[in-house]
Amino acid sequence: MSKRRFLMCPPDHYGVKYVINPWMEGNKSRARADVAREQWQAFHKVLASRADVDLLDPRPGVPDLPFTANAGLVMGKRVVLSRFRYPERQKEEPHYEESFRRNEFEIIKPPATTYFEGAGDALFDRGADRLWMAYGWRSVLEASEFVAARLGVEAIPLRLVDERFYHLDTCFCPLAGGYTIYYPPAFDERSRRLVEELIPADRRHAVSERDAMHFACNAVDTGDAVVLNTCTEELETVLRGWGFEVIRTPLTEFILSGGSAKCLSLRLDETGAQPARKAQPEGVRRRVFIKGHLLDTGLLTQAMDAITEPGGSFEIADLRAGLRRDDLSEIRLEVSALTAHQLQHILARLVDLGAELERPETANAVLKACERDGCAPEGFYCTTIFPTDVCIDGSWIRVENQRMDGTIRVSKGGQSPRAEVVLMRDLREGELVVTGAEGIRTHTRKEQREEKGEFGFMSSQVSTERRVELAVDAVAWEMLQVRKRGGRIVIVAGPVVVHTGGVEYLCELVRERFCSALLGGNAIAVHDMEYALFGTSLGVDLDRGATVRGGHHHHLRTINMIRQYGSIDEAVRQGVLKRGLMYELSRMGVPYCLAGSIRDDGPLPETEMDLIRAQEKYRDLLRGADLVLMLSSMLHAIGVGNMTPAGVKLVCVDINTSVATKLADRGSLESIPVVTDVGLFLSLLARKIRDLQMEPHREPGV
Ligand code: NAD
Repeated sequence: MSKRRFLMCPPDHYGVKYVINPWMEGNKSRARADVAREQWQAFHKVLASRADVDLLDPRPGVPDLPFTANAGLVMGKRVVLSRFRYPERQKEEPHYEESFRRNEFEIIKPPATTYFEGAGDALFDRGADRLWMAYGWRSVLEASEFVAARLGVEAIPLRLVDERFYHLDTCFCPLAGGYTIYYPPAFDERSRRLVEELIPADRRHAVSERDAMHFACNAVDTGDAVVLNTCTEELETVLRGWGFEVIRTPLTEFILSGGSAKCLSLRLDETGAQPARKAQPEGVRRRVFIKGHLLDTGLLTQAMDAITEPGGSFEIADLRAGLRRDDLSEIRLEVSALTAHQLQHILARLVDLGAELERPETANAVLKACERDGCAPEGFYCTTIFPTDVCIDGSWIRVENQRMDGTIRVSKGGQSPRAEVVLMRDLREGELVVTGAEGIRTHTRKEQREEKGEFGFMSSQVSTERRVELAVDAVAWEMLQVRKRGGRIVIVAGPVVVHTGGVEYLCELVRERFCSALLGGNAIAVHDMEYALFGTSLGVDLDRGATVRGGHHHHLRTINMIRQYGSIDEAVRQGVLKRGLMYELSRMGVPYCLAGSIRDDGPLPETEMDLIRAQEKYRDLLRGADLVLMLSSMLHAIGVGNMTPAGVKLVCVDINTSVATKLADRGSLESIPVVTDVGLFLSLLARKIRDLQMEPHREPGV
């Protein structure tokens, strides 16, 4: 075995002088120069006894220069120089460059913003022709593409997700013979799977967190020995079992900066991987354009998260910030991903945020035929609540029946093509469905902002007491406006409306024609009728607030009674049911749907226990709604939220802050959360509506 050759740099000017990784936090100026020197010398001695070691001259003002692994990546007589992410380390670049030039290396420099931190993020596999690369914290994904192309090797990019392991060599260490030790939690799931697929199980070992935290993976492989700061006996046993001698050499002063043995040395005799046998797959990329209130609504951050969370990367090609509050900003992003599939996934998320893909000449949506009834083709686009257009045969058409979590079915049979949102279960074999992200655009917040008017003014905040009053004012006003123009108000309600005494006010809203349809479950009807028939709700006398003896059976007696009459309408017709919500709905001919659930007692004859039919009834009753009032039923409110397109005003009343905000948080500005007792809310709302109409309170049935 030929002797290895390393580059090291004495730590004459080493110290923790700034903070650019979690290890440095709280350690500024805490590294002891004398101890660091002793530790470095001991490590140098170990290495020099087994390999040739070149030295780089120490320089002031660049305290991390001893971490020579970050100088670049050597392969033969070529070196890809580092492009450091942080300005603090960018100062090291000229020193490394000068040293490589002096030693007659051919220098390859990545483009200015293609951050690449050398052998810290690029490690040759020792058992296969491949280069492991990392991105996520320091190097960027584009660096993998660049290095692979310039060195002609196969690069496998891995994504780092734990900032303590900010470089690949802090958590991954290929060893002679194709063995590898690594710390899986430092990587995202896809990367972990890749490692597992490409390295045979008997040649890889997942180190414990303890070993990882002591930089056991930041080890130097001299061919027969593994030199590291320290490791557990368990890891030592594994390494010995693989035939390596284990040499511990404490480097704790350098760990204060986030580096250890591997970081302190760069292998100069690297022959690297063989040239890629097959053409290196080009990373896939696409330019997107986003226009809107990018900065003040957090849209830009969401777009960036949508790219980086699934493992993609981006460069800003152009940014024009709107200077005044109402001005829109524009951004062009060059989005890159590892695979076409990953890119499609990212682009679909960006389209949901309102982005447009550039290159309109290829803008037609990609249609694929369904292969089975009830199943969408691979890669189908999932719809959002936002108005959506698709490009079919060169023309943009608006998608009908917008709702979230559906697919877009395109029919070309008639005069002009039609696109509509269809649930997966309703698709039929041979029908064409939009896939990918091409040729799709959604109209998100940027349009709604101008339209939100009075109603949306509280949308981003949870209501405090004062806000409840403001919300009631806004909702009352809106309800009057909707009724005046003949619009539709749909009310979703749970049984808490009855328990809290809110039902009489809800009845008032029904009588005053503020309810075009009611959506609920078995419980709201049962408890309402229990109250109407027995004066109790779940056995509690609502007027006295006391439990009634035997009252806990009242709701079952109610169900039984209605079942005996055959229907709620029949009980009303026969004069048995004379008041309450169900009575008013029946009397006023207001349609309703009671969706069944596994909790239901009975159920009532009207309760729809076929859930698909219940969903369809809900959908039909919601059609054309202008305002949806969701009153304390998480289950039904969530169901309704999924079916309702953006543009419909939603009011979500719940005592639980997280429920109210979650329900209202649809990314659309017309939803408002109201955190309060639903009984109180309804009483305030009814009173406010009366005040606005200047009409006295009318008694039931009058
Ligand atoms: P849910 O848990 O989905 O929603 C109840 C919501 O009410 C919660 O979000 C809660 O935070 C909120 N809430 C509680 N007290 C409140 C208050 N004072 N003011 C405002 N909000 C308040 O439950 P659900 O919608 O009542 O019922 C879920 C399903 O179970 C439904 O299908 C229902 O019909 C069924 N159910 C059946 C029976 C029955 O048949 N006897 C009884 C109960 C529920």
